[in-house]
Amino acid sequence: MNQGRRMGELKKLLNNNREWSEQVTREQADFFTKLANQQKPKYLWIGCSDSRVPANELVGLQPGEVFVHRNVANLVIHTDFNCLSVIQYAVEVLNIRDIIVCGHYGCGGVHEAIENSSQGLVNNWLRHLRDIKFSHENYFNTIDDPELVNDRLCELNIIRQVKNVCRTTTVEVAWDEGKELTVHGWIYNISNGLLQDLDVSVNSPDSIKPVTDRAVRQVYARTEKIHDS
Ligand SMILES: [Zn+2]
Repeated sequence: MNQGRRMGELKKLLNNNREWSEQVTREQADFFTKLANQQKPKYLWIGCSDSRVPANELVGLQPGEVFVHRNVANLVIHTDFNCLSVIQYAVEVLNIRDIIVCGHYGCGGVHEAIENSSQGLVNNWLRHLRDIKFSHENYFNTIDDPELVNDRLCELNIIRQVKNVCRTTTVEVAWDEGKELTVHGWIYNISNGLLQDLDVSVNSPDSIKPVTDRAVRQVYARTEKIHDS
């Protein structure tokens, strides 16, 4: 595509923005002035960078209502100061009480991790997903269908990331101080636009293991059901 055409397309984005801003202001005159003074989101969303999974739109929330962190395959890594800073700011400054880790079926990051194709730098990031697959090796050895492997790894990844959020120093300190804070795991289906709760909501240090272990068993059971039918 030539540069002139690309510039034209970018200009269209700026025009879209102007129209959106005018429309929002028509519907609620003080919308932006209110937002400019304070943001009070109730939720932290940790999701995938995938362009098909935009946080606000999926859950019908307006600007100002959800604090968002997205990266490839919605990973929460204990040395990723970007993600850790988002969690700290969300919990300690914004006083957010619900953190949602949201993955999605058909995740390209999960697919690449399974294929282990050479994509350069991002392979290092996706190594975390391969580690999750290895830690469930016996289970994955029982599945032949590549699509099922992908689906189950998407689900198991979310459960692992819920656990990782729970084990961040920020969340440990918050629970230690008696703050109410719950970490949830959801999965989004790109094919029908629906979110599903993976029933892995953790609200205390003691419930990390039982809740995440149960969620893993539920994932395993899903495949058994398919085998039985
Ligand atoms: Zn993804």
